[in-house]
Amino acid sequence: TKLVYDFTEGHKDLKDLLGGKGANLAEMTNLGLPVPPGFTITTEACRAFLGEGEEPAGLRDEVSAHLAALEEQMGKKLGQADDPLLVSVRSGAKFSMPGMMDTVLNIGLSDASVAGLATQSGDERFAWDSYRRLLQMFGRTVMGVDGDLFEDALTAAKKAKKAKSDLDLKAKDLKALVETFKQIVLKETGREFPQDPREQMDQAVRAVFDSWNGERARLYRRQERIPHDLGTAVNIVAMVFGNLGPDSGTGVAFTRDPATGHQGVYGDYLQNAQGEDVVAGIRNTLPLPELETIDKASFDELMRIMGILEKHYRDLCDIEFTIERGKLWMLQTRVGKRTAAAAFRIAVQLVDQGIVSMDEALQRVNGVQLGRLMFPRFDEEYVSGGHAARIAWGIAASPGAAVGKAVFDSYTAVKWSRSGEKVILIRRETNPDDLNGMIAAEGILTSRGGKTSHAAVVARGMGKTCVCGAEELDVDTKRRRFTAPGGVVIEEGDLVSIDGSSGHVYKGEVPVVASPVVEYFEGTLHAGADDADELVGAVHRLMAHADGKRRLRVRANADTAEDAFRARRYGAQGIGLCRTEHMFLGERRELVERLILADSETEREEALGELLPMQKQDFVRLFEAMDGLPVTVRLLDPPLHEFLPDITELSVRVALAEARGDSQENELRLLQAVHKLHESNPMLGLRGVRLGLVIPGLFAMQIRAIAEAAVERARAGGDPRPEIMIPLVGTVQELQLVRDEAEQVLASVRAANADSKSALKRLRIKLGTMIELPRAALTAGQIAEEAEFFSFGTNDLTQTVWGFSRDDVEASFFTAYLEKGIFGVSPFETLDVDGVGSLVARAVEDGRRTRPDLKLGVCGEHGGDPDSVHFFHQVGLDYVSCSPFRLPIARLEAGRAVV
Ligand code: PEP
Ligand code: MG
Repeated sequence: TKLVYDFTEGHKDLKDLLGGKGANLAEMTNLGLPVPPGFTITTEACRAFLGEGEEPAGLRDEVSAHLAALEEQMGKKLGQADDPLLVSVRSGAKFSMPGMMDTVLNIGLSDASVAGLATQSGDERFAWDSYRRLLQMFGRTVMGVDGDLFEDALTAAKKAKKAKSDLDLKAKDLKALVETFKQIVLKETGREFPQDPREQMDQAVRAVFDSWNGERARLYRRQERIPHDLGTAVNIVAMVFGNLGPDSGTGVAFTRDPATGHQGVYGDYLQNAQGEDVVAGIRNTLPLPELETIDKASFDELMRIMGILEKHYRDLCDIEFTIERGKLWMLQTRVGKRTAAAAFRIAVQLVDQGIVSMDEALQRVNGVQLGRLMFPRFDEEYVSGGHAARIAWGIAASPGAAVGKAVFDSYTAVKWSRSGEKVILIRRETNPDDLNGMIAAEGILTSRGGKTSHAAVVARGMGKTCVCGAEELDVDTKRRRFTAPGGVVIEEGDLVSIDGSSGHVYKGEVPVVASPVVEYFEGTLHAGADDADELVGAVHRLMAHADGKRRLRVRANADTAEDAFRARRYGAQGIGLCRTEHMFLGERRELVERLILADSETEREEALGELLPMQKQDFVRLFEAMDGLPVTVRLLDPPLHEFLPDITELSVRVALAEARGDSQENELRLLQAVHKLHESNPMLGLRGVRLGLVIPGLFAMQIRAIAEAAVERARAGGDPRPEIMIPLVGTVQELQLVRDEAEQVLASVRAANADSKSALKRLRIKLGTMIELPRAALTAGQIAEEAEFFSFGTNDLTQTVWGFSRDDVEASFFTAYLEKGIFGVSPFETLDVDGVGSLVARAVEDGRRTRPDLKLGVCGEHGGDPDSVHFFHQVGLDYVSCSPFRLPIARLEAGRAVV
């Protein structure tokens, strides 16, 4: 197989093979844009290398051939002493990945060729500066030397020369620095910096391959759910120089503002510098519009190219470019990352500009982003009323409102957050070593770097609040504090609030309020209203489109009328799960206790008789709130002992009473009952349908309450649509028994209401079951004989398929499992498609074979999870049911699953 592609041979759809960077460099090359020539080593070569521990056969020859062609084209050889060709070696996986080795520039420079570069460029300072950069980058990323050693040496050199910035160092200073850097490399690694240019290149390529499996890269992939077996491509690109003097420079640009989506000139530019200077925040960058005054021709050319790229990619692009002595070169482009709000705005902006269709626009947003938009913001009245103590103002790099305790290193961030503290990670600037801390923190605050700094890019990718480049802050990580103007000092552990939408930093805790998107769903803010911003309008249009497209219906998990009203506002088309156990708590618990303790039929019936009107009233209110829409009522599910007092407490009480000699018969009986019902594995015990079959009259009472509530509503002119759902069924026989009982109850309620047509109509109540045990899924064909609908209880199904206790694992060993990459996300959060999903698929098929009109839904937590919704669509369910707040996410994703 072909392992190396020239830029002229690839295109943008080859990301799997050429990585994102390589595919897009090829695309730009073929668009006729000014891209320096080069070639890409494929991800396949990387996979082979990582698998076998050495370069695959043929790679060396192919690289040699492409290098020879590049040399031919450039008219000079790699590292040639009198006129060296220099190249950059740049990694580029399918998904951009901080934590991987990024770039080594100036490969090909050596003691022999540095003079040649000086002569050819006519700039000795430039040549030595390039060489010291090579040593620094190569030393750090390829040879593994601690980068601080180089930084410290550079700082020391600047100090010795009283130089303000690296630009003030002269050729001879840089020459001395090169010697120092070589000594650092030798001392730290025991090896000389390689003088042979091809050796430099080969080592750099290998380092890129290896960095795929670096710890931080793995961590990032787990976080972002990127598969571990993709590998990375490597790009070898002829160098162009942004550090050839003031008419050179380097920068980054966006075709739209990645925070708001607005069109304009966004980006940063740094004169007389190479690419890594911008991202590292070494010197402060200029806003891109200033390039127009520095070099109008290059600026105009850049604007022209940005127009071409946005038209071509039909989306926001971000760009890296370099200007070498007035000539513009494109070093990278890609469809740019953006904030959640910008994603929604841009999607409809592109529709309005006639660039994409509504279907495509829907593809450009997702439920995770929508969820982010529903997060709260800082209370504006509190802030504008002057109650919040603003201490600094930085760049609004990633929106959101974050409050937490100040921490100054990643380790503390992780430690504190594990113990339940909310923290804000504060750094001068971040680098890939900070990734753990960034994940743990509520928000990130830096004093250096722009919108394209590491902190900003990574935070946006993670949806974390970030303020960067707050230059007024003097961050002292060693002493764990920062100082703000006016002598304000924030120590580790002090509360700070950061606003990633405005860039403001506050001392102390600022209260947060609901987002406008939530107000929109709540109906308190209308999309067309004056105070509704563009974002609400965008959400409104995309939701409407998703609703028009989706096949899946959405229902809510709701137990009270209040939840039901909210659910309707959020778009619910019914209730998919009403958990009736919530109606048995509070003051009614005593009645349940009496029911459990009853010795005689009469006692039991008395207790049930008292519970009945209460249950009925619950349902009347619920059916009224959901009038005209289906309400699936699930009969009592949890183990009975949950309704009894705690066994230890009760034992102590009884023992104390006995010691006092006034033992009470009731307490003793209660204790005996608690003992009798105590189970060491209650989740696998007497619960669900088992309860209904063991406690006579319990389910009958609930069914009667449902039926009578329906009658009451129907007689009042309402349109109640109850459905009865039986939990934890494992075999069709259980369901048969409950069905017989239900038929009897319904028949008697019907008989009592024979006078009312509307009541009789509403008493045709469907009976169905949850599928939440493997046996139920495996025998779904039989169960469907008795069930008119299935609702997959994927919480219990996940628990029983994996054998994971859903109440314990997340706090126990899941962190270790996630860290080991056994799964990228908890199977209780996103459905395990391979395992649990295949049972669901099988049950769907078997159930429908028995009963073609079987209604199918899901009511586990997965019903509101974006990825899982797509699976439920594919597998052919009729609806998903989730908590009211997640309904918009489910609606959006159900629409996206179709387009
Ligand atoms: C389930 O198990 O998925 C379910 C919805 O029921 P519960 O969470 O109440 O056990
Ligand atoms: Mg369950």
